[in-house]
Amino acid sequence: MKIHYQILVKGLVQGVGFRPYVYRLATQMGLNGYVDNRNEGVSIVLQGSARQKDDFLSVLIAEQPDVADIQEISVSESAIETVMTGFGISPSVSGSMAITRVSPDIAVCEDCLADLRHQPHRIRYPFINCTHCGPRFSIIRDLPYDRPSTTMSEFIMCNTCRREYEDVNDRRFHAQPVACNHCGPHYTLTGAGVESDDYDTIVRLMDKCLSDGGIIALKGTGGYNLLCCARSRKAVARLRELKQRDAKPFAVMFPNREAIEKYLKVDESEWAMLNSWRRPIVLLHEVTRLNKLVNGPLNTIGALLPYLPVHYDLLSNHPDGLVFTSGNLGDEPIITDDRTARNILLPMVDLLVCYNREIYNRVDDSVVQVAGGQPLLMRRSRGYAPEPLRVRFGAEGILAFGAEKVNSFALGKGEQLILSQYIGDLKNKETHDFYTETLERFGRLFRFDPAVLVCDTHPLYFSTRQAIVHAERLGLPLLQVQHHHAHAAAVMAEYGLEGEVLAVCYDGTGLGDDGTSWGGEILQCGYSGFVRLDHLRCTPLPGGDRAAKEPWRMAVSYLYTLSDGHPAYPTAFLSHTDPEKLNMMEQMMRKNINSPLTSSVGRLFDAVSSLLGICDVNRYQAEASIRLEQRASDAVRLAYDTDASCPLDPADLFRCMMADLEQGVRVSTIAARFHHTLAQMTLLSLSAQRDKTRLNRVVLCGGVFQNRRLLNSLSDRLRKAGFDVFIPSAIPCNDSGIAIGQAAIAAHLSQ
Ligand code: ZN
Ligand code: ZN
Ligand code: FE
Repeated sequence: MKIHYQILVKGLVQGVGFRPYVYRLATQMGLNGYVDNRNEGVSIVLQGSARQKDDFLSVLIAEQPDVADIQEISVSESAIETVMTGFGISPSVSGSMAITRVSPDIAVCEDCLADLRHQPHRIRYPFINCTHCGPRFSIIRDLPYDRPSTTMSEFIMCNTCRREYEDVNDRRFHAQPVACNHCGPHYTLTGAGVESDDYDTIVRLMDKCLSDGGIIALKGTGGYNLLCCARSRKAVARLRELKQRDAKPFAVMFPNREAIEKYLKVDESEWAMLNSWRRPIVLLHEVTRLNKLVNGPLNTIGALLPYLPVHYDLLSNHPDGLVFTSGNLGDEPIITDDRTARNILLPMVDLLVCYNREIYNRVDDSVVQVAGGQPLLMRRSRGYAPEPLRVRFGAEGILAFGAEKVNSFALGKGEQLILSQYIGDLKNKETHDFYTETLERFGRLFRFDPAVLVCDTHPLYFSTRQAIVHAERLGLPLLQVQHHHAHAAAVMAEYGLEGEVLAVCYDGTGLGDDGTSWGGEILQCGYSGFVRLDHLRCTPLPGGDRAAKEPWRMAVSYLYTLSDGHPAYPTAFLSHTDPEKLNMMEQMMRKNINSPLTSSVGRLFDAVSSLLGICDVNRYQAEASIRLEQRASDAVRLAYDTDASCPLDPADLFRCMMADLEQGVRVSTIAARFHHTLAQMTLLSLSAQRDKTRLNRVVLCGGVFQNRRLLNSLSDRLRKAGFDVFIPSAIPCNDSGIAIGQAAIAAHLSQ
């Protein structure tokens, strides 16, 4: 018997060639009906037997397109009223408040790269795309995802493109950004007294400019990038000067695996990340020095593969890679609009290459590292945003404002949390504008109606102040959540954990419930509350915020605290610090002037880094910690003996390190022992807490866990001791992930 089936498919099913896929499948199987896009997903109407419907659904799931991600299928049935013949694709239906997923931007696919050589109207057409690839989130203004709601709306399809767009058997059937040499966007080059919009000329001039050691600003998917030859010392030095960035490492784009492996080590899981359609920057170990101006004293480089046709064209002549960095100044957001690029970037660079399609949603390149075969996101933006996190609780109407550093915010739709792209450090007007603009755009795009607002407890965060303003204006309840509770809840939400867990919250800083700065806490927590079970012994931050920028101050602080105010400085430390300044710090702490207390593990890393003579002043966020991690020897696995009765007191740790230092033990050995000792101290604390609380699940959270050495050492020890360990992977462990935790907590507390 034939039945009328109404099927709704939810998940990432728009902008990924899903309707043509449904069409082809239904046609092949001889089914009648139609498919259309809705805000909430893809709707399919089928007329056929129950058996036919089951077969259809099982193939639908099994053979779905690469980028697609079916998460839910609901089926309802009714008697047939009108018999349908054939299978069709109907226009999109908009109207409900429900939404479907917006696809992230997708790297150009192999088929399109091949088309560039064969298709007459797309020979070398740099904006080629199809239903499997091309811009998505960066160009979308509204849902459902159709051409008029993207920044492609102003381009009128030529007849050839239109035919492909309407031909269900074509790879470009309903590919919204479809375009060709005759009808699509094009590049324009300005600079060096030339102006050109001929693509071949542009590539030739860019290639020559890069070979001559020049710098190019190139409009990419989610903003402008700055490029120069990675091997050229002159070019990289100049780029640093232009960007006002004296030490932070640059990412490098390489043409292929062979080129990467000339300089960097790549394992299979790292290669899978690099080569995925998301094309993130992947942190890799350097085996042969590329150019010390690229990554300074570090032995890692963030590498990525080309993701736009123009990248392929440029890289084919530069096998040693191109420095590939965001087009911005200092800590401002990446530039997206052409006028700002002309005003700010053009005077700095040799060539400016833009194109005449608007970037609506700004997205930076994402950054990932791999630990234990698992990706750990550090910056979640292009290729990931705005993919939602599925959770096991209702989150409708929750708006989480995030933290201050590396901010992202999040909103709740049904059982999904949608994390914004990476916004950045909320410390200048440009980033503030980016934040408020994106907040507003997300609200519109996802048809979001806020009901509950949630933010950090820190009163000075820009995000907190915004939350207060919004709450007053909208007359909505506002919840303030402790920073580390939010860190822990983010990991719980990622893994769908309910009940209570033990949480290791190690990070730079966050306002504690007692008014001090936390960052080395062991919490017992669930979504609705937490207890601070243990913490790293507190020490002053002499000079407050300056102590976070100047690790040597933290070295003084620890030596002062652990010696009860009578520090004995190791000779090596005295050789690179000014005795007068040491004296000043001691005075400040003694008189308790601007010396708030902290339990931050980030600051402990700073102290050790300076004590070992690795880094006295941070030129960029966490420089001292990163360099300490990298200096540590892989061969050393032993921890120092510490007192198990007060596991998070670093007194023994410092005593042993100082003794090693005085005896001339290598810095690389001491650095390694420091990591393993901290892991061992953490295990001791957790074991004691497990005995008391009977909790066996441990979540690791906070920016310090970007340190793979500590992460591996601690998770190995915990697993050996029988703990269930949860490590943030899809949601960054740093403050970008805070909004997810805030939203999860609000969802539970507002129920
Ligand atoms: Zn393609
Ligand atoms: Zn065309
Ligand atoms: Fe934090």
